Amino acid sequence: MCGIIGYVGSKKAAPVLLKGLERLEYRGYDSSGIAVADGEKIEVIKSIGKINELVKKASGSNMPCGQIGIGHTRWATHGVPSDINSHPHLSEDGAFAIVHNGIIENYAELKAELISRGVHFASDTDSEVIAQLLQDNYDGDIISTLRAVAKRLVGSYAVGIVTVYDPDALYAIRKDNPLVVGVGKNENFIASDFAAALEHTHNFVQLENGETARLSSHSVTFYDSDGNNIQKTPYRVDWDIESAEKSGYPHFMLKEIYEQPRAITDTVRPRIKGENGDKIVLDKIEFTDVNVNRIERIDIVGCGSAYHAGIVGKSFIEKYCRIRVNCELASEYVYSDPITDNRTLTIIISQSGETADTLAALRLAKKLGSHTIAVVNVVESAIAREADDVLYTHAGPEIAVATTKGYTTQVAALYLIGLKIAKIKHTISDARYLEVLKEIAALPKKIEAVLKNTDAIESYAKQYAKHKCVFFIGRGTDYAASLEGALKLKEISYIHAEAYAAGELKHGTISLIEDGTITLALVTQSALYLKMLSNIKAVQSRGGTVLAIASKLNEKIGEASDGLLVIPDCDDDVSPVITAVVLQLFAYYVAKERGCDIDKPRNLAKSVTVE
Ligand code: GLU
Repeated sequence: MCGIIGYVGSKKAAPVLLKGLERLEYRGYDSSGIAVADGEKIEVIKSIGKINELVKKASGSNMPCGQIGIGHTRWATHGVPSDINSHPHLSEDGAFAIVHNGIIENYAELKAELISRGVHFASDTDSEVIAQLLQDNYDGDIISTLRAVAKRLVGSYAVGIVTVYDPDALYAIRKDNPLVVGVGKNENFIASDFAAALEHTHNFVQLENGETARLSSHSVTFYDSDGNNIQKTPYRVDWDIESAEKSGYPHFMLKEIYEQPRAITDTVRPRIKGENGDKIVLDKIEFTDVNVNRIERIDIVGCGSAYHAGIVGKSFIEKYCRIRVNCELASEYVYSDPITDNRTLTIIISQSGETADTLAALRLAKKLGSHTIAVVNVVESAIAREADDVLYTHAGPEIAVATTKGYTTQVAALYLIGLKIAKIKHTISDARYLEVLKEIAALPKKIEAVLKNTDAIESYAKQYAKHKCVFFIGRGTDYAASLEGALKLKEISYIHAEAYAAGELKHGTISLIEDGTITLALVTQSALYLKMLSNIKAVQSRGGTVLAIASKLNEKIGEASDGLLVIPDCDDDVSPVITAVVLQLFAYYVAKERGCDIDKPRNLAKSVTVE
C-alpha cells in the first residue's frame, strides 16, 4: 500500500534508494528501510518514523557499499509500526530480502505451517512469510522459486527481492498492487510509482499481475506466470515529479476516488473466509453467542464523514440485527451524559484514529463500562490502541483533506460487523446472509463500473457549478448517503449544501426552493420509489431542478426528473457505497469547475486533533 524502490546499476545503491524513498514520502508512511546486497551478503537498515531517521542510520561509515538494493516505506496493516516490523524482511538464513506492498491474506496459515517446520519469524507482519517461503521453496532456480511462492500467496502484493543466490540481480513480482520497472542506462529500477525513479529515467514498463521481472544493470527480463520469457516494450513517461506523485491524476482526491475498488477489496476480502467464502472473520474481534446476545444497544460515534458512515451503518445494523442503534456525534456524545453500560456496544469510527473528539468519546464509553470497537484506518493510532477491539479499514494513506476511500471503507467495515452479528443472532436468514455478503464482495466491481464512465457526472457538475445552494434528498439509507454527498460538496466547492430526509422537506425547507434551485435526489430504495416521485414533483412544482441518482431498477424516475445518473444494479442495502462514489465525483467536478483548491480546502485539516 505504501512505497517500493529498487535499484541495480553501477552506483552505490543506498543513496539512490534513500532519495527514491523521499520521493515516495508524500504517500504517508510510518517506517522505512533498505536492503543492499554486496555480492556476499545482504545488509538491512530500517527505522520507525520519518525517512531522515533512516538516513541517519545509513550514513557515514554505516552506508552500505553494494550496488543492488531495495527500499520501502511502510503503511502498517499487520503488526505495529516498529523497527522490527519495518521492511525489508530477511529470510531466516539471510539469503533473501524482500519488500512488500499489500496484504497477504493467508499469512496466518502460511506462518503456522512454516513455524511447524522449524522456521523462526522475526516480525509480526504478514509480509515476512514471503521471505521465509522463498527460503523454504528455494530449488536452485530463482524464477521457479518465485513462481512456487506466488502460487501460495492469497491477497495483494507488489514485491521486490534481492538474494545472495543471484548477486547481480534484483527481482519483482506483483498481483493487484502497482509496480513499474524503470529502464535506465547501465542501471534499472523497480518502483511502486514513477515518482521514485523519475529523476533517473523516463522509460518504464508496467509489470502485470502474475508476471516476474529480473533486473540486472544491463538487462531486464520478464516472465509470465508459467515462467516463460516474455517481451515487453518500455514506454516513455513525460511527467514531472508532481504529476507522478499523483499517478497522473490532477488531484489526490481524484486519485483516491479511483483507489476505492482496491481499498474496499482490502477492507472486505481478507475478512471473508471459509471454503465457500461464507464466513466473516473480523480479525481478533471475538463475537460469540454469549457476548452478542448481551448487546442491548449499539452506539456508533464519529465526526464528519465518519459520523455519516455511522448513519449508513445504523440502518443496515438495525435492519439485520434487530438491535437499536444510536448514532452520536463524538463532540456531543462526550458532553451528553451518555446512557451506556456493559450491555452497550460502542463502535468508534475515525480515519486517522487520532480525532480528538472521537478519542474523548472512546475514553468515556470505556469508563462507563461499554465494550468498544474502533473502525480505524491508521494502524496503531491512539484510538486503535485504546479501544477494546479494532477493525482496520486498510484504505491506505489518504492525502486529500476531504475523505473518499476513508469513508466508503468505513461503511464496508460496518456492513461486515452488522452481518456478522446478525448471523450469530439468527436475525437474518441464511439465504439473505449469503446474498448480502455477495453484494458486499461485489462492491469493488460496481464502483469500477461507475469510474469507467464519469462523463455524465462531470457534465451535470459543470452545468450546476455556478449555483449558490444545492439540496440533497433521499429516504431511508439514501438519506444517510445524501448526508455525506452534501458534506463533500460543501467541503471542497464551498457551495451551501444541505441533505434532507425527502419526507421532511415539506416541514419547512421547501420554502427555500425557488426557480432553478438544484436538488439531487437519491432513488435507490425500490420500496420508497413512489414516495420519492412525489417529493421530486413537489420540488419541481416550486420551480426547482432535480437531478436524480437512481439504481437501474428505479431509472424510470428519470422521466420525472430534469436529469438522471444511473448507478450499476445493486442491492438496496449496499447502494450508499456506490452513490457515495457518484456524489464524490460530482463534488470533485463542481469544485474543479469553480477553481477551488480541491486537495486542501480552506479552513480544513486532515486529522482534527483538537476538541
Ligand atoms: N502488509 C504489510 C505490512 O503491514 C505491508 C504494508 C505496506 O504496504 O506498506 O507490513
